[in-house]
Amino acid sequence: MPDLRFYNTLARQVEPFAPLEPGKVRMYHCGPTVYQRPHVGNYRAFLFADLLRRVLEQRGFQVTQVMNLTDVGHIQGDADAGEDKLEAEARKRRIDPWELTRRVAEQFFADLRALQVRPAHHYPRATDHIPEMVAMVEKLLQRGCAYQVGHNVYFDVSRFPEYGKLSGNRVQDLEAGARLEINPEKRHPADFALWKSDPAHIMKWATALGPNGFPGWHIECSAMSRKYLGETFDIHTGGEDNVFPHHECEIAQSEGATGKPFVKLWMHTKFLMVDGGKMAKSLGNVYTLDDIAARGFSPLDLRFFILRSHYRGSLNFTWEALAGAAEARKSLCDFKGRLAAEFNRIIGYDPNQWSPVVAATREAFQVAINDDLNASAALASVFELRNRYLRGQLEPSEFRWAEVFLAEVDDLFTFLEAGHSGPDFTSDQVERLLQERALARQQKDFKKSDAIRAQLASAGIVIEDSSSGTRWHRGGI
Ligand code: AMP
Ligand code: ZN
Repeated sequence: MPDLRFYNTLARQVEPFAPLEPGKVRMYHCGPTVYQRPHVGNYRAFLFADLLRRVLEQRGFQVTQVMNLTDVGHIQGDADAGEDKLEAEARKRRIDPWELTRRVAEQFFADLRALQVRPAHHYPRATDHIPEMVAMVEKLLQRGCAYQVGHNVYFDVSRFPEYGKLSGNRVQDLEAGARLEINPEKRHPADFALWKSDPAHIMKWATALGPNGFPGWHIECSAMSRKYLGETFDIHTGGEDNVFPHHECEIAQSEGATGKPFVKLWMHTKFLMVDGGKMAKSLGNVYTLDDIAARGFSPLDLRFFILRSHYRGSLNFTWEALAGAAEARKSLCDFKGRLAAEFNRIIGYDPNQWSPVVAATREAFQVAINDDLNASAALASVFELRNRYLRGQLEPSEFRWAEVFLAEVDDLFTFLEAGHSGPDFTSDQVERLLQERALARQQKDFKKSDAIRAQLASAGIVIEDSSSGTRWHRGGI
């Protein structure tokens, strides 16, 4: 099998993947800021993390996966002075920020289940890791990488010459740029807050750093990743907006505190666009899974829509594009269902000998996946196999291999089920309804027989009448 290769934002190139410890992969994903239910754009970043994990597991690695929940200290505009997104939203909704983050986190986990995301091994919350963050800030102070102004603590970028190695933003360029806010407490405009103190903040802690304190957003991920994955680990991911300032600052903090390399491989998902532009509440184009369901789509349609495109390629969310993905997904579900319904036609199947056609398809699929998760190329080979089948170019002896291959595909992508929002029938119920339908047909009550067919179709069940009787399968169009 060809080697796994991934694009490393740090190296600015595709590199062969080699874990730090043989057979094991430790990875961290920047998770949601739990002030609002995550939108479909956020799920592009989280579904990418899910696919990455599944690929690594399918290749035999033992993966430890961590995704944090930011439940304090994320300032609006990713700045380090201003309003905390969580407290601002809580005030707007007139609820306690603790209650807000609890509710949003619950919603987030329900969404992950609906999207069939494999649960990470740890979902640490920032508010549960204050002591770890304080310890890291103290370490940075001791090592001269940070300075205190009153009860605020800032990272001193002049003490970390490699600052900018991830994003390419050099300190001298930042000084001239307009992006940084002027804060007279800072020695250099590129310095960033590690710890802040504000009596007006609701979520605040009295610690060795002083009263009324709360963490900066960046220190949260440095401290939590270190706790669960160690000082140096394999992979860190996020959306492309995380490259700067968030991940650049994480590197400075973690490497400044330990003197060791922080992360070997940095991977970033390109933003999901909406109607060709940014997804923003003010534009009214922020969609959640409820909006998807309200238009009759399954969460698996969204899953397929997002995962079938390359994670570093552009992807634009429109309802038409989602409908196209839903249609394509159904055609593959239908393929799977048809293969299952063919079981009594299979002859000459050799369980020890892959069909050459299916083996070649499988090879093409894996080559594409191993090439920096090229999902669109990988799935093209699945459609190719389906087309062969529909053209009658697949021998019955090969059907079983095609099913085995589809199961492998679905182990990574998980979209090959009906995932419909209509009623669910057990196999017994389907059989009973089919008997009723057969009776209705005998009695020439076609209205009734058509109604039963429609009822089954709404549950994603396809029935096929032939001279030898009626066959059915799940997951068709
Ligand atoms: P946030 O809740 O803003 O902290 O974002 C959580 C994660 O979602 C981060 O890794 C972001 O980079 C990512 N993200 C936010 N918006 C998008 C988008 N439109 N497309 C892809 N990823 C996104
Ligand atoms: Zn983070």
